[in-house]
Amino acid sequence: MFQNFDDIADPSRGPLRVAKLREQLVHDGLDGYLIPRADEHQGEYVPPSAERLSWLTGFSGSAGAAVVLADAAALFVDGRYTVQARAQVDADTFEILQVPNTKLSAWLGDSLKAGDKLGYDPRLHTIAEIERLGEALAKQDTELVASRGNLVDAIWQDRPAEPLGQIAPHELRFAGQSAADKIADLQAQLVEAGDDATVLTLTDSIAWTFNIRGSDVAHTPVPLAFAILHAQDRPEIFIDERKLGDNARGHLGAVATIRSPEELSDSLSRLGQAEARVRLDPNRTAQWFAEALEEAGALITRAPDPCLTPKARKNAVEISGARKAQLRDGIAVTRFLAWLDIAAPAGGVDEIVAAKKLEEFRSDTGELKEISFDTISGAGPNGAIVHYRVTRSTNRALAPGELYLVDSGGQYEDGTTDITRTIAIGGPSDEMRTRFTLVLKAHIAIATARFPQGTRGCDIDPLARHALWQAGLDFDHGTGHGVGSYLSVHEGPASISKRGAAEIEPGMILSNEPGYYKEGAYGIRIENLVLVGELEDVAGGERPMMSFETLTLAPIDRRLVAVSLLSDDELAWLNAYHALVAGEIGPHLQDDDRSWLKAAAKPLTRTAS
Ligand code: ZN
Ligand code: ZN
Repeated sequence: MFQNFDDIADPSRGPLRVAKLREQLVHDGLDGYLIPRADEHQGEYVPPSAERLSWLTGFSGSAGAAVVLADAAALFVDGRYTVQARAQVDADTFEILQVPNTKLSAWLGDSLKAGDKLGYDPRLHTIAEIERLGEALAKQDTELVASRGNLVDAIWQDRPAEPLGQIAPHELRFAGQSAADKIADLQAQLVEAGDDATVLTLTDSIAWTFNIRGSDVAHTPVPLAFAILHAQDRPEIFIDERKLGDNARGHLGAVATIRSPEELSDSLSRLGQAEARVRLDPNRTAQWFAEALEEAGALITRAPDPCLTPKARKNAVEISGARKAQLRDGIAVTRFLAWLDIAAPAGGVDEIVAAKKLEEFRSDTGELKEISFDTISGAGPNGAIVHYRVTRSTNRALAPGELYLVDSGGQYEDGTTDITRTIAIGGPSDEMRTRFTLVLKAHIAIATARFPQGTRGCDIDPLARHALWQAGLDFDHGTGHGVGSYLSVHEGPASISKRGAAEIEPGMILSNEPGYYKEGAYGIRIENLVLVGELEDVAGGERPMMSFETLTLAPIDRRLVAVSLLSDDELAWLNAYHALVAGEIGPHLQDDDRSWLKAAAKPLTRTAS
């Protein structure tokens, strides 16, 4: 099993640890300290050795930050995590505050006195983050001070060792472009911009560039490493040698100079001595890099990580890999749905049983490397918690008359998957059917959208919300995110959301996952991955348009569809999608599952629903 269901909430250790940190503050002459969730790479998942926020506060969510002052402490989390934080964190030690309603800078303004010094670890905060916070604090006559070393590490006894996950080459038959070619393309980007070098700090950018995969963090097959790309010279990659077998060493050594992580400072100094122009991504690179380079004499230029767009635009080999991964994953999910339909009404299925069974069907494919994130397996009211993670104490039975929401995905060498289905256990209420159908309309609006070149994710996000808004409903998350190719299940730069400022480009794989959540009652989400097609002429039209092709293959629960609410086009889309699913998945199923799918994918008509 890749997933575990342990309860990790333990608020009891917080007070003692915070007391120790306060002693450390006095020792270092600081009035407070910032503790972010992020590690040096700003990734979604961090290794146990970097779980500083969780160690100090008890809070284990994927985003958040704490501040500890001499006589106050606060934990800042977003709306997804307030319930979880209250359960995991000692409320007498930490005030739990929700961003963006309460801003960290505003809270600090109220809590710090003029002349106070707030410490931070420059390896854990981005350049932009420190700039914004520094400006806000300067207005209040307080100062941000970079600490030497990390203050939490200084008091963290038996801190886990840094991971040594083995690195494997990501073969050309999956990557579609050699590392040498990718490096040459990136170097051309640097030359064109007049930059001498750039530092890569995002683990998925490094994995993509060098065609390597690792196992240092959960769910995302990346190695923890840094790299310097030179416009003219061979790249340098900084990686613990113990992660490299002969195969990986040969593969990497052919395109890069392999150095130990300890040599990173020296290489940055060399760039400084050469007065090099070094490109850094202010939103993704840690402040420490900017300081080290500037001190050594380098000139910093600011631009996004050059890997972001080429990594997001999948090549023909990656696209064909994604189709194979989707077929394989769709078979596993369809077998799970067929099993669920018989097992759940018979009783005895709970959220953990279901999540285990789903992972078992994926493992059965023989190709599963990892699950792409912890399965969200939410029955009834738990389905309304958007980032729900089932544990033994929250585990709930799948009961008749309730909805069950399951959001899950797999990591396969040819592709990463992410799919959500919402299932009626027993007969659904009219309200459930109506709202499910509104979410389905939202999903179809994205699946069938056409849009011109230059369209950003934020431009099409309202298409998904239209049907819900008309009914006075909405959902509090983005409609879609980018997905990597055997990489991060949440990949930039594009997203279909209010904040989706990046343009949507051909070859990108995005999720299409509108939802609706009734707190304390049920949650609905329908998620497929879609591939952005090339610009194409529209019959009778004047401007070429892009559109999406749905890649995910698994039936959508037709018992939850109120046909009368669908337009003819929407109904035709659903029936065509189900015909596609039946045609692709059906031949790979055993008899019982195949008959189940035949019924589950049967066309809906206006008269019989
Ligand atoms: Zn998902
Ligand atoms: Zn998703």
